[in-house]
Amino acid sequence: MIHFIDGQFLAKDSLTISIDDRGYYFGDGVYEVVKVYDGELYTAEEHFERLSQSATKVKMTIPYSEQQLIDIAKELVKVNGIVTGHIYMQVTRGVSSRVHQFPNPEVAPVVTAYAVHNQRPMKTIENGVGTIFVDDIRWLRCDIKSLNLLGSVLAKQEAFEANCAEAILVRDGIVTEGSSTNMFGIKDGIVYTHPASNLILNGITRRVVLRLCEENGIPVEEKAFAPEEALAMDEFFMTSTTAEVTPVITIDGKAIGSGVPGPLTKKLQEAFARQIPVSVAGE
Ligand SMILES: *Cc1c(COP(=O)(O)O)cnc(C)c1O
Repeated sequence: MIHFIDGQFLAKDSLTISIDDRGYYFGDGVYEVVKVYDGELYTAEEHFERLSQSATKVKMTIPYSEQQLIDIAKELVKVNGIVTGHIYMQVTRGVSSRVHQFPNPEVAPVVTAYAVHNQRPMKTIENGVGTIFVDDIRWLRCDIKSLNLLGSVLAKQEAFEANCAEAILVRDGIVTEGSSTNMFGIKDGIVYTHPASNLILNGITRRVVLRLCEENGIPVEEKAFAPEEALAMDEFFMTSTTAEVTPVITIDGKAIGSGVPGPLTKKLQEAFARQIPVSVAGE
């Protein structure tokens, strides 16, 4: 596969990263994952806009415009022949000997990106997944898509050790989001999700789903809810670029609703599938 590193497209085996990269020492950087359907980037503008916003929030300047980032991603899709898959891109604060404060004089950020072939996760999209509640031990700037992912890594591992697909994070008695997904509950026909604040990453898929709710006349309340309320929902689902709209059928081994993907969740999945390129929608 061909990767992108600092202005060059290179075979994976021929590229090197410095041990002094601040991404390596501190997780000092930001990233994005952009889905490719039918050889086309999906919601690329939104993703690269968020990448610049994440960078600005940590006082980094990406040395490329959003359009240039899109062009890099498009080139990776092309040279790697990606039909269905995704692009990963990260930007670190650059290479400098290890001190916590920013390098002085300033160094150039390191931009790397690669492409992956992968099919849509149809099995879990259709059948749903099990989840567990895990304490949200992450920092207070979860709105930044930062490379510092230890809180998420530990939560996801705990879920996997419990034979579950995702951890539902709980902070101060409220459900925030998943370790790499946004969480939604449905009760009496109303969709509930945590408001976009510093406590969650405002997913692009989350935003798409909120728009689809509006277009389909499904009422939404961006309102935090407690774990007990989550367990009492009629339906539950999670969203992300790669998970799309995935039903959550159990939490901590307890069935949500009837324990199968619910009707409104299915309606949203159908609405989601209708607005991605047609030839892959039924994959
Ligand atoms: C990336 C991410 C999401 C999902 O965002 P999408 O833009 O929909 O992929 C949700 N939560 C966290 C913590 C994330 O890092």
